Amino acid sequence: MNKKIVILPGDGIGKEVTTEGKKVLEKIAELFGHTFEFDEAIIGHDAIEATGNPLPDETLTKLKNCDAILFGAVGHPKYDNDPTLKVRPEQGLLKMRKELGLYANLRPIKLFDELLEASSIKPEILKGSDILFFRELTGDVYFGEKGRKDDGNTAFDLMIYQRYEVERIAHKAFQAARTRKKKVTSVDKANVLESSRLWREVVQEIGKQYPDVALDHQFVDAAAMKLIQNPRSYDVVVTGNLFGDILTDEASQIAGSMGMLASASVGDSVGLYEPIHGSAHDITGKGIANPLASILSAALLLDISFGLKEESETIIKAVEQTLKQGWRTTDIADAKTPKEKILNTQKMGSAIINELEKVASHKLSVTSDK
Ligand code: NAD
Repeated sequence: MNKKIVILPGDGIGKEVTTEGKKVLEKIAELFGHTFEFDEAIIGHDAIEATGNPLPDETLTKLKNCDAILFGAVGHPKYDNDPTLKVRPEQGLLKMRKELGLYANLRPIKLFDELLEASSIKPEILKGSDILFFRELTGDVYFGEKGRKDDGNTAFDLMIYQRYEVERIAHKAFQAARTRKKKVTSVDKANVLESSRLWREVVQEIGKQYPDVALDHQFVDAAAMKLIQNPRSYDVVVTGNLFGDILTDEASQIAGSMGMLASASVGDSVGLYEPIHGSAHDITGKGIANPLASILSAALLLDISFGLKEESETIIKAVEQTLKQGWRTTDIADAKTPKEKILNTQKMGSAIINELEKVASHKLSVTSDK
């Protein structure tokens, strides 16, 4: 298979982890006989420094003309500490989602058994959790009108949803549930918000087209509590942009660390794959960022954008085996992890490459024995 992939490292640890994600894609191409042509582009703080624009036209053109995108993260302390700055890295991210029509963000919350002890939640509550979030990406307070009035003393962000935006993400969630445990939980705040009442009404309507899928509704405050009280009670969760943003960070604790969670943003054309974490200024440059979320994002890319299921599963298996052998990055180590088992970003990437070779050669020998 011949495919064009754009690597969009962004800022902070985005650069460090996508380097490892790309290495894994290169190794998969070599092991399975594919040709992946890589290009790179800038976004976020780096792009502002270079061009004054967080999403330069040149970047957008590259993104519109490739088969898939592996993205890192954007963000820089300069902007976090000065909300008055008008041109901001995250504008690049929001514009990219809008321009590429990426309306559905899929966030699988997959717990590797080896990491049961790494979470701050009790293992007996976590074991067996497997949740697939669908976060809507192009509506909500992120894109509604915003501003200040009364000499800057009043601020507002309009929470806005249109029927078609809810319909298309609801379809995606119900379709995915059909391939899983056939249960959708829709999360909103319909007791208070009008946009949530429209959300609930539309999800109920769409649900009628999927009579084989069970549907329930939860208010976001209750969902935030139940998610850590009984994570196994969820299968597919569908929710708006703001609630999805918050709940999936909370759910990262189910997977042990932000450094373990991959995501896919899909819509009408090219797919974008990225860890759910940000640019993590606190650890940037230390070489300790966990690259597994980026590597698992590469696995999602192969599966969803290219339909390469075996290649994708090979990456997941390699991650599983590496964790089974006790290798950890700092964020997923616990009190019992021996010091010599803690790897830096680059060494964790290399451990996965090593394991990929073993998993792939085992598969080949099983196939040739048949
Ligand atoms: P963050 O996700 O960057 O970090 C939160 C915490 O998790 C930090 O303590 C960090 O060290 C840790 N962490 C995150 N990823 C890790 C990894 N791979 N390995 C080990 N530890 C990891 O969130 P934040 O600190 O709230 O934000 C930092 C910057 O990132 C901000 O500028 C924010 O705007 C930006 N941000 C960007 C995105 C994105 O680009 N999609 C998402 C969230 C935040």
